[in-house]
Amino acid sequence: MLTDLIQIGGAGPAGLAAAITLARAGRRVLVHELQGEVGHRFGGDFQGLENWSTQHDVLDQLREAGIGTAFTAKACSRAEVFDAWGNRYEIESNKTFFYLVERGPGPGTLDTALLEQARGLGVEVRFNSRLDRLEGAGILAAGPKAADAIAVGYHFETPMDDGVWVILDDELAPQGYAYLLIMNGRGTVKSCMFSGFKQEHLYVQRTVAAFQRLVGLEMLNPRLHGGVGNFHMPARAVTGGHPVVGEAAGFQDFLWGFGMRYAIHSGVLAARSLLEGKYYDMFWRLELEPPMWNSMVNRALFGLLGNRGYRWILRRNQAQRWDAHRVLQRLYQPWPIKRLLLPWARTRYSSRRQDESCDHINCTCVWCRHGNHHLADAQKGCGG
Ligand SMILES: Cc1cc2nc3c(=O)[nH]c(=O)nc-3n(C[C@H](O)[C@H](O)[C@H](O)COP(=O)(O)OP(=O)(O)OC[C@H]3O[C@@H](n4cnc5c(N)ncnc54)[C@H](O)[C@@H]3O)c2cc1C
Repeated sequence: MLTDLIQIGGAGPAGLAAAITLARAGRRVLVHELQGEVGHRFGGDFQGLENWSTQHDVLDQLREAGIGTAFTAKACSRAEVFDAWGNRYEIESNKTFFYLVERGPGPGTLDTALLEQARGLGVEVRFNSRLDRLEGAGILAAGPKAADAIAVGYHFETPMDDGVWVILDDELAPQGYAYLLIMNGRGTVKSCMFSGFKQEHLYVQRTVAAFQRLVGLEMLNPRLHGGVGNFHMPARAVTGGHPVVGEAAGFQDFLWGFGMRYAIHSGVLAARSLLEGKYYDMFWRLELEPPMWNSMVNRALFGLLGNRGYRWILRRNQAQRWDAHRVLQRLYQPWPIKRLLLPWARTRYSSRRQDESCDHINCTCVWCRHGNHHLADAQKGCGG
């Protein structure tokens, strides 16, 4: 019997943040990870831990929530952005707008730091262990279940200096953005697209060629890399009585896909809901839903801009010398006027994932949010 044990399916940031929070409160935790290592789907990817949506610094916020920050985090307060015509704009702030972090199993990565903290607190992390059924107390943290956006490109080594470059051009990244991130002689270049997935190779080729032309991109030993993002406002984020966290629930920044902060935050909230015996749906609705619906409105507005719209905004930024952190922070505030736009935004945006929320309290199936599986499980007590 696994009575007082809490099991977690998935050792991503969401699952590990939940494990850390539970272990800090003295609970016995077992994390199942499908892969043989943490961060397997990212292996060396650079990502931005966004620091603009709150006044409070994200690293301080993590530490206050009991999540360690013993990972390499390069503060970024400057980026070069290009429009579709190759014009260059400087985006700057006297505040950090994001921290560049590395994902995957290596030293100094976000995933390794979370894993080490969890293990240090006595959490057992079982690799190559797929959680298919969850009996007893637990949290579901298995990552994205559909592709609403994809980011595809290369990891590589480079003699280039550190930097952050972005291109806003629908011919490179439809309704998204192309980016180049370099830190300590290594880099990632990606087209992050919200449509046109079937032509991903074409968009990646164009992205690489554009960065070569605009900033002299030099890639040594390039390795193809890509992944999906699932942005979905769930009706409920509880399956069979188990909290669902991170992208498994669809928690994401709809505008640009900065999902790490949502993942960690939701993991902490889910753990707190178990510890305090309170409804997880109440916790995430209070803290995650407002920024999520706001980012959904932002996404719908962004989708109207097109290349001329991006250029107009970049030109205004240049002319008025806007502070990037300030602008982004305003953009991410759920102003009441934006609330009015939500019904419209909902008609413009729909996730490729159906809401498969399962309300059966005795359901033990990790996958019942995952469409195809329903029929097979109906006979086993999940679907009825
Ligand atoms: C290319 C790319 C670039 C990105 N860039 C950024 C960025 O710059 N900034 C940002 O904030 N976000 C970024 N994101 C999004 C961010 O990576 C995710 O939002 C975040 O990793 C979600 O965390 P998670 O813990 O919910 O899921 P994941 O990180 O996907 O972890 C889920 C884990 O569960 C495991 N698992 C799955 N099924 C099972 C099972 N049945 N049993 C056991 N284990 C299971 C998986 O192997 C995986 O390790 C990016 C995503 C991609 C794909």
